[in-house]
Amino acid sequence: MTQTTGGDVRLTGISKTYGAFTAVHPLDLTVPAGSFFALLGASGCGKTTTLRMIAGLEDPTTGTVELAGKDVTALPPYKRPVNTVFQNYALFPHLDIFENVAFGLRRRGIKSVRKQVEEMLDLVQLGPMARRKPQQLSGGQQQRVAVARALINHPQVLLLDEPLGALDLKLRRQMQLELKRIQTEVGITFVHVTHDQEEAMTMADTVAVMNGGRVEQLGAPADLYENPATTFVANFLGTSNLIEAGVLTASGDTLVVKAGAATLRLPVRRCVPAVREGDTVLAGVRPEKMALVPVEDAGSVAEGHNRVTGRIRDASFIGVSTQYVIEAPGIGRLSAYEQNVRRDARLVPGAEVVLHWDPEHTFALDADQDIDAGADTDEEAA
Ligand code: ATP
Repeated sequence: MTQTTGGDVRLTGISKTYGAFTAVHPLDLTVPAGSFFALLGASGCGKTTTLRMIAGLEDPTTGTVELAGKDVTALPPYKRPVNTVFQNYALFPHLDIFENVAFGLRRRGIKSVRKQVEEMLDLVQLGPMARRKPQQLSGGQQQRVAVARALINHPQVLLLDEPLGALDLKLRRQMQLELKRIQTEVGITFVHVTHDQEEAMTMADTVAVMNGGRVEQLGAPADLYENPATTFVANFLGTSNLIEAGVLTASGDTLVVKAGAATLRLPVRRCVPAVREGDTVLAGVRPEKMALVPVEDAGSVAEGHNRVTGRIRDASFIGVSTQYVIEAPGIGRLSAYEQNVRRDARLVPGAEVVLHWDPEHTFALDADQDIDAGADTDEEAA
């Protein structure tokens, strides 16, 4: 099929205020050509406003939008090399799938549309459905038609505003892989807005985590997940155990901290703030990095592992794993996820256990921020 070259998206000092309210604080952002980029954040964080400023559907209060090296800030949406796919894909109900996809070409006065439309329908794997009406398709199929309808105009950038929000979970997962495949195949720049962290991580090469009208952190999904720079990112992207700890020594490559009765070690390079002895940090560890043994088996814990003793408060079996909540004196509640490979019948609520993990899996954040930021965000709020 015809390849369209993707274009860079460059936002410089772009902001949006509504009266006294700032929806997007001045933002500099470059989305490299051909990448799949996600703007991720909870409801109201400013991600849709940012997308709409790229599309030209919203005028920025300050700043500029460049697409493929051209300043488009003053251009109306239809003069920009972008197309947007919305959550409510708004297909034309009276037109069949073929004509829905052909629409953009016909509007531009192009007569022979068959080859291009068929290519597009093949791309989204809907060739056999060409003569059906939208209401005869499933939600996921309709969404693919919306993508085909946008891509046939050969935009340099495709903007996706919660495009999978109306689909049920299973279909959403399928469509995530499908959209990723389409993006790889056509090679154009995709900018995707979502509040669903799994969705952003599944599809995007780069994720910008937004909070309160600012990009809080930007990076590849695995990098953001493994090295969150703030409590918001640590809690919003998956789950983190954040433990308030006092710095005992900070010399060489290892930071030694004290939390409750436990002495914990972590690599200095994984400590975000510069710290000195006596400072407080938030030591962080992901629940799946922690292992759990009954206290009577403490001798089996690997030498050099961080250890915390506590009592199981709750155990939820969820198939692939069991999720434990452990109450650790002087520390608080910790979560640990154990894969269901060999289940230990002794690991039940009330049992005293040792939680342990490799110090390499510990990071540390500035303690001078809300430890629960991003933790209680309603994931389903769109
Ligand atoms: P959602 O996922 O709910 O759409 P979002 O992160 O995309 O959230 P935006 O739609 O960008 O958030 O909105 C950011 C903030 O700006 C919100 O607090 C919203 O109420 C506010 N806002 C958006 N449009 C307007 C407007 N026209 N007038 C006043 N405030 C607005």
